[in-house]
Amino acid sequence: MRYAMAIDTKKCVGCSDCVVACQTENNVPIGFCRDWVVESTDGSYPQLVLENRSERCNHCENSPCVRCCPTGASHYEEGGIVTVTKQDCIGCSACIQSCPYDARYTHPEGYVDKCTFCIQLVTKGQKPACVDVCPTKCMYFGDLDNPNSEVSLILARRKHKTLIPEAGTNPQVYFLI
Ligand code: SF4
Ligand code: SF4
Ligand code: SF4
Repeated sequence: MRYAMAIDTKKCVGCSDCVVACQTENNVPIGFCRDWVVESTDGSYPQLVLENRSERCNHCENSPCVRCCPTGASHYEEGGIVTVTKQDCIGCSACIQSCPYDARYTHPEGYVDKCTFCIQLVTKGQKPACVDVCPTKCMYFGDLDNPNSEVSLILARRKHKTLIPEAGTNPQVYFLI
């Protein structure tokens, strides 16, 4: 089992429904977020390409946040999901400093929080809240070890990229381009 997400930058309209769905499903405190939308442009006028990216923790296979956590609070769950056990987190923020994607924040209760790939839903066979709510159906989630999963099929068929590959973290969130 190797969970991954693929997000179609051509279909994302930047509505931020994914952000609201995540905040609701995961009780994210007001003023914080586990996912966010980045609008970027590439190329030069008049050949400009606009890209909307719904970003979150990349559930890196080689994650510095897990490596540097002094208490083991940041750890891998089944399928490579990177999570934080809040009772074990001392709020030292080493993981926040080590993450090249700025994917973590300190919860007002003192522990560090971030995207969990909605582990409470996906382990029951449901989709993550952000994937489920997206009005353009631009996000795909599933098991990369299963060649017939939605995410494996779309990645086999479409060009894709990961963010900051030079960081060597091996992200498991892919952007279809
Ligand atoms: Fe993009 Fe879908 Fe998020 Fe809207 S809900 S911003 S279309 S990823
Ligand atoms: Fe850790 Fe950041 Fe990678 Fe998420 S994106 S697994 S927080 S290094
Ligand atoms: Fe939030 Fe779940 Fe989507 Fe992660 S997978 S951004 S926790 S809704």
